[in-house]
Amino acid sequence: MQITVVTLFPELVRAVMHSGMPRVAESQGAMALATVNPRDFAQDRHRTVDDRPFGGGPGMLLKPETLAAAIRAAKAENSEAAVWLLSPQGVRLDRDLVAAVATQPGLILVCGRYEGVDQRVVDALVDQEVSIGDYVLSGGELGAMVLIDAVVRRLPGVLGDAESVVQDSFETARLDHPHYTRPECWEDRAVPAVLLGGNHRVIEAWRAGQRGLNTARHRPDLFYGQGLDDRARAELTAAWAPEALWQTNEP
Ligand code: SAM
Repeated sequence: MQITVVTLFPELVRAVMHSGMPRVAESQGAMALATVNPRDFAQDRHRTVDDRPFGGGPGMLLKPETLAAAIRAAKAENSEAAVWLLSPQGVRLDRDLVAAVATQPGLILVCGRYEGVDQRVVDALVDQEVSIGDYVLSGGELGAMVLIDAVVRRLPGVLGDAESVVQDSFETARLDHPHYTRPECWEDRAVPAVLLGGNHRVIEAWRAGQRGLNTARHRPDLFYGQGLDDRARAELTAAWAPEALWQTNEP
């Protein structure tokens, strides 16, 4: 997948590729990152990319000419990509949006700065505005980095174990179950006995119960989205009665 980021701060965006899964994805050739800087399209000797808003008000806006030229240059190099503007006014980024875009050959991410961008550029060149949450950042770069990190996890072959994505929070409208590693007892806190028993059917039932419980506690909107359906009932039973599962002798 080719991701092109239009940004005044290419070195900031590039930092996302220095570690973790984005670095793995780039080294495997699963993803390539390019940046285009609107400042490179400025015509004046100060390389101006911003200007005051018509009608007055605080702050500056990204000028249409330089931003549009940068987006068009990105499109020329990444011709199959949709253009997404990072914006607090956009649709909220979630698992489904990330999963959908991860199947595409390319993506162009446009990072606003200052008070934002001239609306005519949005109207002319942007396919979708995307927000990473109901708060205001000083620029779109951190949002672009969040998106890149979330997308590369889903690219085929990037995670060592493809099951990791399947088990992640939100994959099945549930949060993840709790995880434990050695030692078995840490500061008087023991690992749940069910995880030490070796019965994988029981362990999976316990984990499903914990996923349900976690979701009911922390995200009731997800858990009760379909009402208290059969799945939710089964999960709560498994969560509240692990001993019953634990005592089962079935393989
Ligand atoms: N005046 C704008 C408003 O109130 O909607 C905020 C502009 S913000 C200071 C500058 C840039 O940061 C935006 O153009 C956008 O690219 C980015 N940005 C800020 N908050 C964001 C968010 N929650 N999600 C995605 N991008 C965001």
